[in-house]
Amino acid sequence: MSSFDVVIIGSGPGGYVAAIRCAQLGMKTAIIEKYSTLGGTCLNVGCIPSKAMLASSHHFEEISHFADHGIEVSGEVKVNLEKMVARKKAVVDQTAGGVKYLMDKNKITVFEGVGAFESATAIAITKKDGSVEKIEAKNTIIATGSKPSSLPFIKIDKERIITSTEALELKEVPKHLVIIGGGVIGLELGQVYLRLGAQVSVVEFMDRIIPGMDAGLSKELTKVLKKQGMKFYTSHKVQAVDRNGDVVTVKAENAKGEVITLEGDYALISVGRRPYTEGLNADKAGVKITERGQIEVNDHLQTTASNIYAIGDVVRGAMLAHKAEEEGVVVAEYLAGQKPHIDYNLIPGVVYTWPEVAAVGKTEEQLKEAGVAYKSGSFPFKALGRARAGGDTDGFVKILADAKTDEVLGVHMIGPRCADLIAEAVTAMEFKASAEDISRMSHAHPTFAEAIKEAALAATDNRALHV
Ligand code: FAD
Repeated sequence: MSSFDVVIIGSGPGGYVAAIRCAQLGMKTAIIEKYSTLGGTCLNVGCIPSKAMLASSHHFEEISHFADHGIEVSGEVKVNLEKMVARKKAVVDQTAGGVKYLMDKNKITVFEGVGAFESATAIAITKKDGSVEKIEAKNTIIATGSKPSSLPFIKIDKERIITSTEALELKEVPKHLVIIGGGVIGLELGQVYLRLGAQVSVVEFMDRIIPGMDAGLSKELTKVLKKQGMKFYTSHKVQAVDRNGDVVTVKAENAKGEVITLEGDYALISVGRRPYTEGLNADKAGVKITERGQIEVNDHLQTTASNIYAIGDVVRGAMLAHKAEEEGVVVAEYLAGQKPHIDYNLIPGVVYTWPEVAAVGKTEEQLKEAGVAYKSGSFPFKALGRARAGGDTDGFVKILADAKTDEVLGVHMIGPRCADLIAEAVTAMEFKASAEDISRMSHAHPTFAEAIKEAALAATDNRALHV
């Protein structure tokens, strides 16, 4: 029986990054993945394919602005969805190949099969052909991720009533896509098909979309997406999703008790994701699973079995690839006797619609609830030269700073390239910058990043220069 210092179960961004860091730190490392491709949800059916589809559909949508830029297109511009999906697949395949390359480069043993505990140190790997290989692990990191969740009364048939996984592989552009859930995944995929010509309706239980983010971002994103043609039914509780042939009917009740009926040809169920631990036999290793289905961990991401750790979507916290990666590194370094740390407050959240939405730190709602006195400074992209030059004028940057100390407590932005711009806010907050600090830093002109400096100026004595 082969034996390892550390075995990682699951090859998503949490698992494969943990494996690389363990190997870098000199541990004999193995990774088990049940699918034939590495990279997990993020790479195969999540972050990467969704961004490939967003990029392709964005190119198509841009054509409608060509005339404004003096570009004349003669003849019909058409979408070839099959080709678009094939390109997405090529991007995924190439990136998954890259993860395999990294495993080989770092001399990490890769097992293909389902990993299940036989004890706290013995793992059985069941391969596709049914054969079982047993290995020994001094330490194990569980990184088995998550799967789409649903509502008890919805039967996902993966044809017309679908999850994000199927939405990335459709054979046709829906005529009317009804999306249940106005969170990140639903909105990103909704915008893909909206741009490709679908009618898109979003039904959301809460009173606003992206409910976990700052209300100001939610309001602006709603406004922009409405302008783009998306329809919203917030404060609507879905009661039934039924399919009859090619027609899907969604019934939802609003706060007044009125029931609306939406008929579409596809319904995308994007009501969140649930931790995935099936087939793991966690109990055989003494690993406790909480009532919410998450693996219970302490501050060191250690489970109830002292030599077994868990990271990523399968444990508490935001279900984000970069959070999983950070946790993977932390556990590897902890196993190596180092003293790593994660500041969960500084894990940024991003929505890759266009305009992009990004945030880090506390929202206004959270600060109010905690009774923290804060100042707020905002700057609209429409007042920025670079944004005007490119025609991307929707959105703003908002900086929240402590009323007394001026320390930046939260940065919330919606606009062009915010997914990348948020890194400046994370850096600033990691170094406990004040709004004044940011306002005194030179930002290249003309750039979108100038909106951050201007928002910082606005937060400190309302002295933004260009409004
Ligand atoms: P996963 O990536 O889920 O990987 C777990 C792996 O473990 C899987 O490959 C699974 O097959 C394997 N596995 C499970 N059980 C076993 C077993 N018993 N034996 C062997 N293998 C097993 N996050 C972002 O940060 N940015 C984004 O833009 C983003 N976009 C997304 C878009 C979509 C459509 C979706 C669905 C998700 C998106 N996410 C995004 C979320 C992101 O994909 C997850 O947070 C991330 O993949 C979690 O990583 P993980 O390593 O915990 O688990």
